[in-house]
Amino acid sequence: MRSITTFDLQYAHRFFGFQGEAQYLHGHTGILTIEVEDSVNEGVNMVYPCNEIQKVAWDVLKNFDHSLILRADDPLLPAILSVYEAQGIKDGHPQNKMKGIAFETELATAYPDSRLVVTKETMTIEGMIKIVYALLKDKLNIAKITFTSGVNIASAEFQPNKVIERCPLCGISLDESGVCPKCGYKK
Ligand SMILES: [Zn+2]
Ligand SMILES: [Zn+2]
Repeated sequence: MRSITTFDLQYAHRFFGFQGEAQYLHGHTGILTIEVEDSVNEGVNMVYPCNEIQKVAWDVLKNFDHSLILRADDPLLPAILSVYEAQGIKDGHPQNKMKGIAFETELATAYPDSRLVVTKETMTIEGMIKIVYALLKDKLNIAKITFTSGVNIASAEFQPNKVIERCPLCGISLDESGVCPKCGYKK
C-alpha cells in the first residue's frame, strides 16, 4: 500500500537557452507529491506516517521554497549574486529563517543563506523529479513522484525495494541500532 503526501513550493526559475517564453525569469507554485510504498506496519496500521514524510522531505525541500533555481551556466547567476552581495543578503539575513538543510548532489546544490538552488540541468518539472528522487531515495521508500507546475504535470515511478525497519508504536524509521528516535522503542 502507499502513503502519499504533497508539498507546496513557490519558486522562480527560467529555461536558459530555451527557444520560448520560459527563457525569461518567471515564477510558479509547484505541487510535489511523494508516494511511499511498503507493507502496512501492523503496530500502527500505516505504511508510513504522512507527517513523517513531510518532516523528512521538508528538511531539504525547504530549499526550493521562496527560492531562485538557476542552471550553473546561466549568466543570471553571477548577476543575482552580485546584487545580493551588494545588498548584504547573499550570506543570510535575520529574517531569512525558513531555511532548508544545505545539500549537494550530482544534480543540484542548495545555498540556503541565499535561497538559491543551482542545478546541473534545466529545472523543468522532469528535472525537479530527478533532483528530488536523488535527495530522498535513501530516506524513504519512494514509489512515485509527481510534480505539477501550472498546467504542466510530470510523474515517474520507482522501485521501492529498501527494507526500512519501522517503529510498531509510532510508525517512523528506527535508527541503525534499532531504536525509535521518537518514542524510544527498542527492537
Ligand atoms: Zn517555469
Ligand atoms: Zn516510535
